Amino acid sequence: MFLTAVLGVSACCLLAVAVKSGEISARAKKLHFSTIVVDTHDDTTQRFLHGKFDIGVRHTDGSIDIPRMREGGLDAIFFSIWIPSKITGQEAVNRALAQIAAAREQVSAHPKDLALATTAAEVRAAQKQGKIAALLGVEGGHMINSNLDVLRNFASLGVRYMTLTHSSNDEWADSSTETPAHNGLTDFGKDVVREMNRLGVIVDISHVSDKTFYDVLEVSKAPMIASHSSCRALCDAPRNMTDRMMKDLAAKGGVIQINYHVGFLSQEFRNAEKANPEINKAIGEEVQKRCGDDEACQLLEGDRLTREYVERGKLPRVDWKKIIEHIDHAVKVAGVDHVGLGSDFDGANMPYGMEDASKLPKITEALLKKGYAEDDVKKILGENTLRVMAEVERVSRELSKQARK
Ligand SMILES: [Zn+2]
Repeated sequence: MFLTAVLGVSACCLLAVAVKSGEISARAKKLHFSTIVVDTHDDTTQRFLHGKFDIGVRHTDGSIDIPRMREGGLDAIFFSIWIPSKITGQEAVNRALAQIAAAREQVSAHPKDLALATTAAEVRAAQKQGKIAALLGVEGGHMINSNLDVLRNFASLGVRYMTLTHSSNDEWADSSTETPAHNGLTDFGKDVVREMNRLGVIVDISHVSDKTFYDVLEVSKAPMIASHSSCRALCDAPRNMTDRMMKDLAAKGGVIQINYHVGFLSQEFRNAEKANPEINKAIGEEVQKRCGDDEACQLLEGDRLTREYVERGKLPRVDWKKIIEHIDHAVKVAGVDHVGLGSDFDGANMPYGMEDASKLPKITEALLKKGYAEDDVKKILGENTLRVMAEVERVSRELSKQARK
């Protein structure tokens, strides 16, 4: 009891400080904390693997835990199941299954705060009960080991999207960051997309090559998402989407969820990285020294070291408002029904002012200040993603019905 009382007091005062700073208006707070806020890409899963991390307590490092999600009004989060592209075969399958189990364990360990969700309706139900919906997305088609049964198993364990590639090509789809090997999607890759449609697993085109994107656009019967991609017109990363791609994604009902990684937000940052390749090399070597093969450690230390270079003036400082520029550009190009949030928290270098989930109300405040209507802000914060989920579920039911005929 004593502990609860003490925690209660500190929570009240933290909130009071946030209000006093005047950053978030009463109107923005009211809107932000009453609507469903969805983040379609988060890499905290890596931290779950070593058994010591508890998502229920506040951490001084990283971006995600229950207290900070509560403070930032984050209602639904897709935990990414990710392993590097170089790990393939049965080992890739096993490691993906271990991550799915670890994410599910974090959810069952916190039944008052988290609820596993696999449908849009379950996300809404969780929010009504005052819980954060936890969802699963597999980041990289290499984890199915070219076997549709593995994909089916992932779906049965609750996985609701799969990013077709990570940063290298897999056996059946080209990535945006490697020389093409398949000219987009192979015939088997097309079967993967069809099976995802049937299973109700959203096709995620973040990371894939432009040609793979257009092949998927042709094959998929359901709308797709880019779970964590930004705008190439503002920052020329091959991982970002061109205006044409965003328009075509939108024409099929899909959503681009803006990624907060500084190297995808800021051309200036990207140019500086390119001009000084020795910096990335040094960061890579230092990360390897500190972390070895521990991927959670690599992600956090990479972020920490990058910030040190920024502090020393060796890399440009990127402000969180860049996120708003990308959202606004995507809205202008693709329409307000086709933009959402896909942070890449705990998996990338966050801009100043968006260090963790507690800062999310700033996005609502900034969009309102820009003149966005409240209903449009709600769409960007989560409703667009929930609409795609519901539509993917409808297509899945339709395809299953046809198959039974
Ligand atoms: Zn990624």
